[in-house]
Amino acid sequence: MGNGENVVCPGCQSINNVPGEKLGDAPKCGNCGEPILDAKPVELDEGGFERHKTKETLPFLVDFYAPWCGHCRQMSPNFDKAAETMAPDIRFAKVSTEAAQALAGKLGIKSIPTLVLFKGGKELARNSGVMDPDAIVKWVKGNL
Ligand SMILES: [Zn+2]
Repeated sequence: MGNGENVVCPGCQSINNVPGEKLGDAPKCGNCGEPILDAKPVELDEGGFERHKTKETLPFLVDFYAPWCGHCRQMSPNFDKAAETMAPDIRFAKVSTEAAQALAGKLGIKSIPTLVLFKGGKELARNSGVMDPDAIVKWVKGNL
C-alpha cells in the first residue's frame, strides 16, 4: 500500500485509494463517479458501517442517533459543523439505531446520541450526550 488513504465510496461501497495531498480536492469515486469525501456526514446502514470501519484508513467518527431523540436533533447541527472543521481528514458518519438495531446492540450503545471514534477497525473512544462543535473537535483530536 502506498502512502494514500483507502476511502470507501458511500454510494457504491468501492474502495478508492486517494493520495494524501488529494484528499481535500473533492475526490470522486473511480467506479461510480460520486464524491467520496465531502464535508458532510454520510448516513450509513449496518453494511456500510462495517465496510467503512474495516476498509477505510481514515479515522472514522460515528454519531449513533435515533430519529425520535430530541438530544440527537440538538446534536446533529453540531456534528455537521465539526465535520466541516475536520474534513477531509476524518470520516464523519451517522447511523440510526432504529434502522441498525442489531449493530447498536452489538456495540453496546446504551444511550443516544453516542459518538464512537474508530481507526483501523478499532474503537478508540466513545462519548454519550450532546456536545458542541468545539467539544467534538477537541475530543476527536484528544483521542487520535
Ligand atoms: Zn462509488
